[in-house]
Amino acid sequence: MNSYKIMSIAFEDLKKEVLSCEKCALSKTRNHVIFGEGNPEAGILIVGEGPGADEDRIGRPFVGKSGQLLDKILAACGFNREQHVFISNIVKCRPPGNRAPTPQEAAVCMPYLMEQIELIDPEIIILLGASALNYLVDKSMRITKVRGHWLAWQNRWVMPVFHPAALLRNPNLKRDTWEDYKKIVFKYREMVDADHYSAHV
Ligand code: SF4
Repeated sequence: MNSYKIMSIAFEDLKKEVLSCEKCALSKTRNHVIFGEGNPEAGILIVGEGPGADEDRIGRPFVGKSGQLLDKILAACGFNREQHVFISNIVKCRPPGNRAPTPQEAAVCMPYLMEQIELIDPEIIILLGASALNYLVDKSMRITKVRGHWLAWQNRWVMPVFHPAALLRNPNLKRDTWEDYKKIVFKYREMVDADHYSAHV
């Protein structure tokens, strides 16, 4: 069996396990577990905080207004969910009322994300917002301070950016955020595909 086949079997096994998980109390209030979506061999992994109401209802990550804005930004970079990225979250079930996940919920769920990272083995990780930054990399870092700066974490290139929900609340953040995504396109060309096409970068 080749290594791609082994990886995809391990990925499907992990997905099955996550979809039936009841390891924390979020399992009691969720409608769907959101494992993630995209190419399991993508060069970019995008990590958000957790599913929102639309995601919980539909069963897919980033499908509400934030998700639509994220898709627009990705398209401007020449990226799409089918080929270039895999999208996941710190917690796979919706925290009620769209609150942030608690440290306990994150601690119980994050081994799944760590397994996804190991299996996908992305060159680049994009962290959407403070929860992704604080739970995955360093709880003392401020998103307003480190966004747009490459962080070296576990031999990967990690770029923290504002969460798309923050851009919807404050459109003034869009200009800086676009500069951050341009850096991601340049890094993608350097690390993954030198011929990557974007009409805007
Ligand atoms: S949030 Fe994570 S740990 Fe909690 S029930 Fe859902 S999948 Fe399991």
